[in-house]
Amino acid sequence: MSVPLQQMLRVGAYVAKQHLMGVRRYPLVLMLEPLFRCNLACSGCGKIDYPDEILNQRLSVEDCLGAVEECGAPVVSIAGGEPLLHKELHLVVEGIVRRRKFVYLCTNALLMEKKLDLYEPGPFFTWSVHLDGGREEHDRSVCQDGVFERAVEAIGQAKARGFRVNINCTLFNQAAPDKVARFFDDVMAMGVNGITVSPGYAYERAPDQAHFLNRRRTKELFRDIFRLGRGKRWSFSQSGLFLDYLAGNQSYRCTPWGNPTRNYFGWQRPCYLLGEGYAKSFRELMEETDWDRYGTGNYEKCADCMVHSGYEATAVTDAVKNPLKAFAVAMRGPRTEGAMAPEIALEQQRPAEFVFSRHVEDAVQRLHRAKSLAESPASAD
Ligand code: SF4
Repeated sequence: MSVPLQQMLRVGAYVAKQHLMGVRRYPLVLMLEPLFRCNLACSGCGKIDYPDEILNQRLSVEDCLGAVEECGAPVVSIAGGEPLLHKELHLVVEGIVRRRKFVYLCTNALLMEKKLDLYEPGPFFTWSVHLDGGREEHDRSVCQDGVFERAVEAIGQAKARGFRVNINCTLFNQAAPDKVARFFDDVMAMGVNGITVSPGYAYERAPDQAHFLNRRRTKELFRDIFRLGRGKRWSFSQSGLFLDYLAGNQSYRCTPWGNPTRNYFGWQRPCYLLGEGYAKSFRELMEETDWDRYGTGNYEKCADCMVHSGYEATAVTDAVKNPLKAFAVAMRGPRTEGAMAPEIALEQQRPAEFVFSRHVEDAVQRLHRAKSLAESPASAD
């Protein structure tokens, strides 16, 4: 089973409670980015294109745990950058587990073996290792040879010590269904607990803009992959309805508040993938974001997005409202033949706004001001 029973029950109870209380917007997974610095520079990454001053910043342990408390989501996904570069990350994980929340620590695994001793295996903690395919595909995706090998070695070590390990796989338009299917066979044979798979989001700051998938191509690719997976018992850490959506069988609108993001800039609007603005508190994010301005059909930058951080929460809400449909899909797997669900029209979407540089300049100026204040003779008095 890719998701522990305890997690299914706790998250299920949390979702049911929100619905009973009539809460319209609630978070499922907190995306916590304690830093942006990484020890790789992948061609499809839109997270590390910051000046050094920003890359050198870290959220403190107190900031991270404060965000966990403020948000209240039952699951925390720690992303980055490369989170293991944060020297106190084990204390963050320890604090989250102590709060009985489920932690997924996303890593490229380069530092994982070295850091294993700092972490405790248990049902509340899962390593989520970034692997975009077999040796050739993954090393190409991360733009460095030998990374796949080291990740596989680290997965083996972690499994031997009793850790839960998932792999986190992003697919781009060069993905060949037969190779992806073989890769899924191989990781299941390695003993990983679950596979998280998603099409790459077309980050405006990613160095390689040529290989992102459009929606039609995404759905065809996933149908081809799932067809090859029939009877294979691949264990996905995602809901059946989300996988059915990837295969083109559900018309879902995104739920950006389902996976709220906290990083150095604050609470990111509207989602993990898009930094269009920042709120000072979680409450401000939820209450003062104009959510209707975002999502496929509403905003140009959302046109091709089908990423789990935007749509898994939609699938979960659908499952709560339509349990029989969810059960049927979970039993038979995603449908890979027949007509696809209608596509959301894009004619009314508002054009993209480009605000990245302004946010970065503001943050750098704030850092300079704080530095000169700290260095001024008056502050030394
Ligand atoms: S569709 Fe939703 S999740 Fe995707 S980029 Fe837009 S707001 Fe974010």
